[in-house]
Amino acid sequence: MNPLARPGFPAPAASRQGAVFIISAPSGVGKTTLIHEVLARDPRLRFSVSCTTRPPRPGERDGVDYRFLDRASFVDGIRGGRFLEWAEVHGNLYGTDSAQVAARLGEGYDVLLDIDVQGARQVKGKIPGAAAVFILPPSLAVLRERLAERGTESEADMTRRLRAADEEIQNAPWYDFLVVNDRLEEAAADLAAIFRAARSWRDRRLPEVAHLFGRPFADVRDS
Ligand code: 5GP
Repeated sequence: MNPLARPGFPAPAASRQGAVFIISAPSGVGKTTLIHEVLARDPRLRFSVSCTTRPPRPGERDGVDYRFLDRASFVDGIRGGRFLEWAEVHGNLYGTDSAQVAARLGEGYDVLLDIDVQGARQVKGKIPGAAAVFILPPSLAVLRERLAERGTESEADMTRRLRAADEEIQNAPWYDFLVVNDRLEEAAADLAAIFRAARSWRDRRLPEVAHLFGRPFADVRDS
């Protein structure tokens, strides 16, 4: 089955379909740096800019890091079916804009979603072929150090995020791929390799291969 052929996700006219990649990680694991690294290396990849009700952190730009919405606009978006998935994380609402993802896929790009586990589960329910990657810290002690160095959280926020991180890590077994971000270079190379392999996943490539060979393929996997 074509995992993209569902409401809101028409298959691109070209035989090559864009892939959906999901990345989740507890905060402080270095996910944002990792994502910048893979985006810089991979011209086929586009970042899905999420909507959020969280106020911008210093240096964050509207439309680049997030679309910053007030709560009323976000709730309107939920009611209007704007989001492929949405969730409340650390007291703020976050959501993936369906139209934006569909547009990038339609252009033949692969789309990278930086979302939490609640969102990841929703996306997998709608797009089973999406490859989900979980990024782990080398240890909880290292995570604590990294969060303290970042210094963007209040003490109370940090304690809350660390506890949340510990809980989030329990979800690691649900993901398709696990990457431990010990050394950035190595973790970025792992991610790039995962994306490359996921592009060749049978279920994704079969429609394109059928197109190339001018015929559908019978399902011989059980025979
Ligand atoms: P932060 O506020 O630190 O940028 O992100 C907090 C958490 O929200 C992270 O785990 C991040 O992956 C998650 N997040 C960011 N955008 C989205 C989104 O669109 N949907 C969901 N479900 N989670 C998101």
